[in-house]
Amino acid sequence: MPKITVLPGDGIGQEIIPEAVKVLKAVLAGREHDFEFNEYLIGGAAIDEVGKALPEETLQACHEADAVLLGSVGGPKWDTLPAKERPELGALLPLRKQLNLYANIRPVKVLPALLSASTLKEDVVKGVDLVVFRELTGGLYFGEKGRTDNPPAAYDVLIYTEEEIRRILKLAFQTAQSRRKKLCSVDKANVLESSRFWREIATDVAKEFPDVELTHMYVDNAAMQLVRAPGQFDVIVTENMFGDILTDLASMLSGSIGMLASASVSGKKGLFEPAHGSAPDIAGKNIANPLATILSAAMMLRYSFNLHVEAERIEKAVLKVLEQGLRTADLAKPGEKIIGTKEMGDAVVEALA
Ligand code: NAD
Repeated sequence: MPKITVLPGDGIGQEIIPEAVKVLKAVLAGREHDFEFNEYLIGGAAIDEVGKALPEETLQACHEADAVLLGSVGGPKWDTLPAKERPELGALLPLRKQLNLYANIRPVKVLPALLSASTLKEDVVKGVDLVVFRELTGGLYFGEKGRTDNPPAAYDVLIYTEEEIRRILKLAFQTAQSRRKKLCSVDKANVLESSRFWREIATDVAKEFPDVELTHMYVDNAAMQLVRAPGQFDVIVTENMFGDILTDLASMLSGSIGMLASASVSGKKGLFEPAHGSAPDIAGKNIANPLATILSAAMMLRYSFNLHVEAERIEKAVLKVLEQGLRTADLAKPGEKIIGTKEMGDAVVEALA
């Protein structure tokens, strides 16, 4: 029986995950009992309960699952703990590394119903449909870190192996091949040796995909181009930290970070989560937007279970509720009626019909 490990985590994770699970069970109607949904602790919630951000039991359940659905982790309550024990460094990064989830995939599609929700002009964001592939288990976030006393200093090592670069590039090329056949590899090759190495390998992998047009762009220019003319991009591939920053920037094209889904995969196995964090400022108030998590659940059906029809039904239901004018607070313009997290989840379930 396919297993889905469900990890609500902290803050709004506790509110958005039940909505995504509700939508999943509704779209699988009649077959939901063919899937095992098992909930486990992670992040601050796990620290409070069992003293560890990533308990053994949770890690084991993630290893055994076909897919993991995660809310978010972290919050001010745990920010005073030593860095390695905090929810982000103590749970999220080791989980990605342990499951070898080397590719983070974040689609950014500007839906016609949300054109006016973007902070950018409508004619700039209209029709934007791009996917960012971010390398997730290498680079600065995983390199050696440390401090020296004399002189007082701190360092994080940025290192990439050829294999790490090759595998994410292949995945990005394959996706570009199934889309508009344009891949933009983002680096900082004018300054960084690791970027020059990345560019060499990208150029080499391109030989296997002659029908895909490969371009290279410096990360500072990419940030500027994503705001100036985002419609030029089809698939973007980049290393860990550049991807972290560019995907948050790109999320605003679609109106709110509350709309941005993400999948972190290694083959069929994946961890699916919204691109945003635990939003402590709005947690517990039933005002968070659950759509990024619901769209992440759709990605899960597609990537891990090959349930393309069901994934599309969820995506269409999300479109429908937005076209009906339903808005959570993050999407609403002044004067527009606002609905809560739970009501938005209910509306998506209803729109599945
Ligand atoms: P955040 O994404 O949690 O919040 C940024 C802003 O976006 C806030 O104003 C928040 O209210 C808003 N927002 C986020 N998601 C929303 C949603 N679904 N609906 C409506 N508004 C939404 O980022 P942050 O404030 O930098 O981080 C808060 C905590 O989350 C920190 O502890 C951070 O480390 C953690 N975090 C976790 C993850 C993760 O679990 N993958 C990712 C990023 C940050």
